Amino acid sequence: MRLVVLGPPGAGKGTQAVKLAEHFACADVATGDIFRANVAEGTELGRAAQEYMDRGDLVPDEVVIAMVMERLADRDCQAGFVLDGFPRTVNQAEALDRRLAEQGSPLEAALSFDVTEDELLRRLAGRAAAQHRADDAEQTIRHRLEVFAIKTRPLIDYYAHRGLLIQVDAIGPIEVVTKRILAALDGTRRPA
Ligand code: AMP
Repeated sequence: MRLVVLGPPGAGKGTQAVKLAEHFACADVATGDIFRANVAEGTELGRAAQEYMDRGDLVPDEVVIAMVMERLADRDCQAGFVLDGFPRTVNQAEALDRRLAEQGSPLEAALSFDVTEDELLRRLAGRAAAQHRADDAEQTIRHRLEVFAIKTRPLIDYYAHRGLLIQVDAIGPIEVVTKRILAALDGTRRPA
C-alpha cells in the first residue's frame, strides 16, 4: 500500500498512520518524528529544521524533499508506505509524484482527515500538556493551523483531481476511525 495522510495538526494522522502501516505491513514514515529525532540528536538536519519547527513554520521544501526521498529508498519502503506529514506543499506533492512515477509505483490513495477547529484546539491543548511539545503552545498551534490552511489545504484539490482523495471523518474513537478508513480504502479497490 502506498498512502499519504493529510490533515491539520491534531487530526489524528500520526495515530492512524501507525495503525495503517501495521495493517498493511508497510513502512510508517512520519516526517515530524524524523525531524524531532534529529533535533534531539543534534544532527545537522535537526539544526536546519529546529527554528522552523519551533515557530510552527514549515521546514523548507528542499530540506524535506531530500530527506523523504532518501527515506523512501530504504528497504522497508519497498513493501509500501504510509506518509504522515508529507507532502505539505504542492511542491512536495509534485516531487513525490515524480519519484513514484520513475519507480512505476504511483500512490494508491490520499486520506484527508476532517476535524472541526474546536475539536482540533481541544486535542492540541491536551497533547501540549501530555507531551510538552514546544510547538503545541497555543499561539504556535494557531499559526500551524494557518500554515495548514494556506500551504497544505490546496493538496486536497491536488489529489481530488487525480482521483486519489478519500475524505475521512476523523472524529470518534481511534478504532472506529481506523475501520472507516479501511472500509473506504476497500471501497476504492472494488471494481466499479
Ligand atoms: P508534525 O509532527 O507532522 O506536525 O510536524 C512537526 C513540524 O515538523 C512541522 O510543524 C514542521 O515544522 C515540520 N515538518 C514536518 N513535516 C514537514 C513537511 N512535510 N514539510 C515541512 N515541514 C515539515
